[in-house]
Amino acid sequence: MTWTETFSCNVCGKRKGDVDHWWLAWVEQIQPSDDEEPKPKLQVMPWSELMARSLEVVHLCGAGCALKEAERWMTSVAQNKRAASSAAD
Ligand SMILES: [Zn+2]
Repeated sequence: MTWTETFSCNVCGKRKGDVDHWWLAWVEQIQPSDDEEPKPKLQVMPWSELMARSLEVVHLCGAGCALKEAERWMTSVAQNKRAASSAAD
């Protein structure tokens, strides 16, 4: 018996099978210029067994859950931005 790692969707909890179209997502920090604050950037790519083992990636079972994750992430970024600007007042 070969050892296989099982993954589950970070949004809906579905277990990964052999034939499906999963995606990976993670966040990188981008600083467009010295004058701008670093900004988080959401990256999405088709499933990779190697990349899936990386700690910071989110596993997504399909486009529906990828969009939910993107929406959740964008909401949290917007909230953090509001919280940071109101804290500066
Ligand atoms: Zn899912």
